[in-house]
Amino acid sequence: MTVVGGGVIALLTAVECVLDGHRVTVVDRGPVPDGGATSPGRHRILRALHPADPRTTGAALRAHHRWIELEELLLTRFYERVGALTVLPPAAAAAGAALVAAAGGTARELTAAGLSDRYPHLHLDGGLGAVLEEEAGVLLAGRVLAACAGWLKWQRGVELVEHRAVTAVDGGSGTVRLADGRELHGDAVLVAVDPRSRNLLPEGVAERLTLYRQSLLHCRVPPHQARAWAATPAIASLGTPGGARLVPPVAGGGLRLTAAAARRVVDEITDHATDPYWRRTLEREFGDVLPGFGPAWVTAAEDAYYAAFAPAGGPPLAALGGAGYAYAACGGPSFEFAPLIARSLADRLAGSGPSPTGVGALSAV
Ligand SMILES: Cc1cc2nc3c(=O)[nH]c(=O)nc-3n(C[C@H](O)[C@H](O)[C@H](O)COP(=O)(O)OP(=O)(O)OC[C@H]3O[C@@H](n4cnc5c(N)ncnc54)[C@H](O)[C@@H]3O)c2cc1C
Repeated sequence: MTVVGGGVIALLTAVECVLDGHRVTVVDRGPVPDGGATSPGRHRILRALHPADPRTTGAALRAHHRWIELEELLLTRFYERVGALTVLPPAAAAAGAALVAAAGGTARELTAAGLSDRYPHLHLDGGLGAVLEEEAGVLLAGRVLAACAGWLKWQRGVELVEHRAVTAVDGGSGTVRLADGRELHGDAVLVAVDPRSRNLLPEGVAERLTLYRQSLLHCRVPPHQARAWAATPAIASLGTPGGARLVPPVAGGGLRLTAAAARRVVDEITDHATDPYWRRTLEREFGDVLPGFGPAWVTAAEDAYYAAFAPAGGPPLAALGGAGYAYAACGGPSFEFAPLIARSLADRLAGSGPSPTGVGALSAV
């Protein structure tokens, strides 16, 4: 089988295919893993709760369990289970905790008073409650990719072809053409590339992808708050109008802040520098929520890119003919659900019926 791409979807699919006993060639235009792709570097919050969505909540719990199994298989710790908090209106928080429990997970509802007792270093809207999932946490994306690549390199029947861009794919014959003119042949082919290679996606898919650029702040917390931050979960939603979210300092890193308000649609991937306007937008967004927060906390700012399907929706998976598939790298849930997506893709590539993921877009096809 040939897997085009070296991001989380491609590498985990390759891992699943190898576990099934297939020979696999992974080809990427950069190194594997590629620091310029959308998967690496940043941390991803993994939580079960997807408010008012039992199906996705159930899928997220399955993904949580599979990530823990993958840590054992790949012999690497990349899931920092510092907990995950979702700030919501009180009624939604009660419903959210019940939803996670009904799906077989553990979550507790926190009232506004409970929130301010537990997290005095956060200044959340006094009318809001929250759902706390103590067993959830943060995936260290870079470590996930390095662990997959390291594991694959030691497996029999695996070839990693690095620094070779793919220029064309014929799903029908399983042929992959490289920029240097070489051709790779396999029984099946998966294309899981980032938005820079939209040309490899079939017609009708690439046009429906919207490319977003999002700014993030890396911060150092003041020493007197270090203890409080060490006990702070990842916060998938702080309940602000601007959609603020944060990852606390984990694995020797700093506090990371971002918000939906710092995301915009762009035409192409260019640089990663953060314009002062977007930096100020984030500083304003967090100024009210984090007492004492200001530019002095910020050690670096960066912009990252991800693609998402247009609001009209539709599956990011497309058939390329024969046993060929293209999975369009999409923001939102792609990373957290990657183990389920990879399992389903491996089943498709092997010609067996796809395993149900419970992940909306992929299950739809
Ligand atoms: C700021 C930000 C926050 C995010 N937050 C979350 C989150 O909280 N939760 C979540 O689940 N997801 C999140 N995402 C999205 C998630 O990280 C991505 O959707 C996911 O990592 C995509 O993985 P991928 O394997 O599909 O693609 P990528 O990681 O982009 O990998 C694609 C690979 O294809 C290779 N490639 C491209 N063109 C070619 C070619 N022509 N030939 C050969 N190789 C090629 C590239 O080199 C790259 O290695 C976020 C993304 C960003 C940027």
